Amino acid sequence: MKCLICNKELTGNVCERCGFPKISVVGGAEDDPVVKTAVHDYKENILKKITVEMETYQYKEDGNKLVLAQTDRIPIGKQLQNLDKDQCTWFQEDFARMEAGEPMTLTLFINNDGREVRREISLKAPDIRSFWKAGLKSQGGMDYTVVLGTADRYAETESFCILDK
Ligand SMILES: [Zn+2]
Repeated sequence: MKCLICNKELTGNVCERCGFPKISVVGGAEDDPVVKTAVHDYKENILKKITVEMETYQYKEDGNKLVLAQTDRIPIGKQLQNLDKDQCTWFQEDFARMEAGEPMTLTLFINNDGREVRREISLKAPDIRSFWKAGLKSQGGMDYTVVLGTADRYAETESFCILDK
């Protein structure tokens, strides 16, 4: 049986990843209104305390080459309890595009109630000839992908669980 919150395979009576208890009911547990409310509330409580930031890089010209001037962080995921499955957040800032198909590594900082996890995640640069925006897409459960591009066309990273360390 899988955890109703984060889909992790349960080995005991409590999920090792998110702490949600195993619930046994006759019939489909997911459809039971009491269980539904409990799952919703538990999820909301976890997600309220989580913010996801992405590292960005500013370059400046030094003579005739570009050098890294500073790094920054942008919040790409906040209030995730309000994001439905398959919906995206979009951070309102444009980024210069890179060569399509180029492998990229994104650095994320996932802050969960004061504890921060750094995670690197890769993707291929999207083939989109305008500025890019960045965001987070809900894959259901506690799984997310990072999206890069525009609201209609974007590249996605592999899916990751927001609770993993
Ligand atoms: Zn769980």
